[in-house]
Amino acid sequence: MKGDLVWPAPRVSARTGEAFAVRHVWCVGRNYAEHAREMGADPKKSEPVFFSKPAQALVQSESIAYPARTLSLHHEVELAVLLAAGGRAIPACDWDERIWGYGVAVDLTRRDVQAECKAAGRPWELSKGFDQSAPIGPIQRRQEWQLHEEASMHLSVNGERRQFARLGDMIWPVAELLSRLSEEVTLNTGDVILTGTPAGVADLQRGDRLVAVIDGLPELAFQIA
Ligand code: MN
Repeated sequence: MKGDLVWPAPRVSARTGEAFAVRHVWCVGRNYAEHAREMGADPKKSEPVFFSKPAQALVQSESIAYPARTLSLHHEVELAVLLAAGGRAIPACDWDERIWGYGVAVDLTRRDVQAECKAAGRPWELSKGFDQSAPIGPIQRRQEWQLHEEASMHLSVNGERRQFARLGDMIWPVAELLSRLSEEVTLNTGDVILTGTPAGVADLQRGDRLVAVIDGLPELAFQIA
C-alpha cells in the first residue's frame, strides 16, 4: 500500500457540538479512600494506580452492550478530563490551561476477569479495555464549568442511588494527578483521563438504566442492552 495509513480516530463530542479525535484514555485506580478500602487496599499508602483503555473504548450512545465472557460487570462513575494540550513533567499549577474541558464517564469493569487476573499476577487489560467500556457524556468547556471540591458526583441504577461523592474526596486532585502521570508519560492533545471512582461499585444486569451526574456538567444516561 502506498501513502500514509489513515485510520478512523474515535471521537468524542462536546456540548457545543464540536467533536475531537481521542488519542489515548488514561485511568486512575484508588483515587477515593472508601473505594480503595472496598477493593482491599490501604488508602494511606496509596500512590495513584495508572492504567489505560484504548481510545475506541470511549462511546457516546444510549445503549451499551453487555460484554462477552463476564458474569460481573461493575459500574464506576468518574470525572473525565479532555486535554487541549499536554507535555512531559508538567507541574500541577500549569495544568489548568491545558485542559479543554470536563465530562461524566463510567469506567465499566469486568470485575470477575480483573479479580482472576490479579490473583494470577497477570495484566488485567481486558477487564477494563473492552469495546464500549467507557461511556462518556458531552464534554463541557473548562471556561464554562469550574472544578470545585463541593461539586457532587453520583450514579443511580434504575433510579436507585449506588455511588455518591464530592470531587473534593479525591486523594489526588486533578491537577496533581495530571502532573504525576506526566512524570511517567508524555500527555498530549486529545488524551482523556478518567480520574477514579468513589465507593459503591456493584454489578449491572442487562436492561439496567444508568444515570451519572456531576453538578453542572451534562448528564450521562445509558442502558445496558
Ligand atoms: Mn475506574
